[in-house]
Amino acid sequence: IRKNPGEKEFHQAATEVLTTLEPVIEKNPQFQKAALLERLVEPERQLKFRVPWVDDKGNVQVNVGYRVEFNSAIGPYKGGLRFHPSVNIGIIKFLGFEQIFKNSLTGLPIGGGKGGSDFDPKGKSDNEVMAFCQSFMTELYRHIGADTDVPAGDIGVGGREIGYLYGQYKRITNRYESVLTGKGLTYGGSLARKEATGYGLVYITAEMLRAHNDTLAGKKVVVSGSGNVAIYATEKAQQLGAKVVALSDSNGWIYDEEGIDLALVKEIKEVRRGRIKEYVQTRTNAEYHEGKGIWTIPCDVALPCATQNELNGDDARTLIKNGVLAVAEGANMPSTLEATEEFLKNKIMYIPGKAANAGGVATSALEMSQNAQRLSWSFEEVDQKLQGIMVNIYRQISEAAAAYDAPGNFVLGANIAGFLKVANAMMDQGIV
Ligand code: NDP
Repeated sequence: IRKNPGEKEFHQAATEVLTTLEPVIEKNPQFQKAALLERLVEPERQLKFRVPWVDDKGNVQVNVGYRVEFNSAIGPYKGGLRFHPSVNIGIIKFLGFEQIFKNSLTGLPIGGGKGGSDFDPKGKSDNEVMAFCQSFMTELYRHIGADTDVPAGDIGVGGREIGYLYGQYKRITNRYESVLTGKGLTYGGSLARKEATGYGLVYITAEMLRAHNDTLAGKKVVVSGSGNVAIYATEKAQQLGAKVVALSDSNGWIYDEEGIDLALVKEIKEVRRGRIKEYVQTRTNAEYHEGKGIWTIPCDVALPCATQNELNGDDARTLIKNGVLAVAEGANMPSTLEATEEFLKNKIMYIPGKAANAGGVATSALEMSQNAQRLSWSFEEVDQKLQGIMVNIYRQISEAAAAYDAPGNFVLGANIAGFLKVANAMMDQGIV
């Protein structure tokens, strides 16, 4: 806190991880001697840069760009870019820090990084988004590379933005390489990458239920958000027989007792780039509520898929009072520390984001493998690998939790399992 004043999201993420690592540090005094935790919380490199661009009216706009290259002990930096007006260094650092452990849990050779900008793509024309992306990449290109740092999408960065960023990278460097993931299918993208975070979230939720002799079939599910992760979490949950009854955006939430009509949501969000409230114009039996409140809906399974700190202690207590069985996080750190404590205290089946949403980055790593081989795998092949990875993550986090006398505590399990591989790699590589 003294070294990084004002970075409240980063302090929150680091506090949670460092607290759960205490028993590991006790067991491994060599980590302390090597100042491992002190090194772990300090990014290897942190970039901040100016992004000037010209809007459709001819006005010059100036945004800030960030890339935090946090930890490369087990592979090149890997993690998304977020374009949202709330972006600041504290948010990028929390995301980059979480990414270190998440990427380790995938079992694939990827380090942790994150980046983005306070640019808001909402309401901008395609031309403006392109102008911004080209300017952003004109600085970023010198810091990234297929073996150095490989960004991807996140909030506000989808296929359109990745395409513009990739085009500019190629134009400047004259290299056709796997420098970004989430690319379009005509230029090196992987089948199932778009679906991967949401699908992976549901695969691991199903695995957790299976371990408790239960299934998703017939469960009532509430999903927050209506972006990439929320849409494909809904799709997979529906395919597995669950009934998803709610979705949201930053303005409000919809409730559809009969189950969400996902084709309609895709039309609104992916084609029209509209707002979730437009849903009730077509589905007139569904309800739209302005503002927060999605967690007041009674459900069996809650899948927060919007953004950090969207679910606080009161929301957690409401969900528990209404009988929630399982909570799994598609978003990064959607639950506050207080909410997390409520879930753990009340023995709710709960998987934190760094384990539950790791399917996205895992499939990005599979995209890098395909690019390196100059091959494309089928949807089924990628999807099958994704399922295997999520089942393996569940196994790792439950084994680590049990090994440290906290069976079922997957916050502890995910942090410890993710940490150990990175820590051992850092020890082997000396004081760097
Ligand atoms: P999108 O931009 O596609 O969607 C984001 C959704 O969250 C939108 O519905 C958005 O609503 C809502 N949202 C964003 N900010 C806020 C806010 N401050 N308050 C309320 N709602 C908000 O992003 P993704 O679906 O890709 O990302 C969602 C979450 O999943 C993020 O936490 C991201 O870090 C995480 N994640 C994403 C991965 C991926 O592969 N895409 C991988 C792993 C994690 P609105 O339109 O109103 O802004």
